[in-house]
Amino acid sequence: MGLLIDAHMHLVPSVRSSYVDEVVEFLRARGNMVIAVSIDVSSSIETLRIGRSFPSQIIPFIGVHPASASTERVSSFEQMVNNETGILGIGEIGLDGTYSTDAVTVEKQRIVFDQMLSIAERLNKPVSVHSRGAVTETLLAIRRFSLNRVMLHWFAGTESQLKEAQEMGFMVSFGPASVYSRKIQRLAKISNPEMTLVESDAPVRFSACFGGHAADPRMVGSVVNTLARIWEMSYNEVAALISKNTLRYLKTL
Ligand SMILES: [Zn+2]
Repeated sequence: MGLLIDAHMHLVPSVRSSYVDEVVEFLRARGNMVIAVSIDVSSSIETLRIGRSFPSQIIPFIGVHPASASTERVSSFEQMVNNETGILGIGEIGLDGTYSTDAVTVEKQRIVFDQMLSIAERLNKPVSVHSRGAVTETLLAIRRFSLNRVMLHWFAGTESQLKEAQEMGFMVSFGPASVYSRKIQRLAKISNPEMTLVESDAPVRFSACFGGHAADPRMVGSVVNTLARIWEMSYNEVAALISKNTLRYLKTL
């Protein structure tokens, strides 16, 4: 079994005190890794600390999530960027069309997203992007920056938006919802396998066959299995391809 990287999950805020240890133990046993994204300044600092403790398992990303955009101070984020070490990417950042329709909040999300993209451009780091209900606006924003390693996490837009994103050179990732959602399965079918990643978005709770339990990185195996069925490839072929894609996104290949 080769390396398989969960391209988007959260270690912080922790769901329970033993969570990080459980995840690291599983990753160690399998020789796998996770990209651990952050949602605000404090989770960014904590995720970087965990990343420094477990460099062979945890790939730390820092960012301000659209849900934190109206409360978080970007100046303290900038300060942290200058003081911290071991930053391997920027995320989770983006736009969300479902949190608020209030113009001020929407504008604030846009400003913070632009600031995050500009930090990623300056540091030349990959970005992990949230685009729920706002794919078109998200693509427009990213286009204004010189970024060549972009991933739209938990992609759930339309088929034409998916094609547009991949034509722009962006990766998309699918998570546990692909196992039961017909809509996600239709998207996965037309997704370019060379530009597809897998994720758990742990600790999100997934319904249907997952029974509402908190996700963990072990679920990416089920996602690979689903993609293998949809693409008519073997599990090992898909796992190897996705691993190559993820390393290209992280620029370690
Ligand atoms: Zn997330």
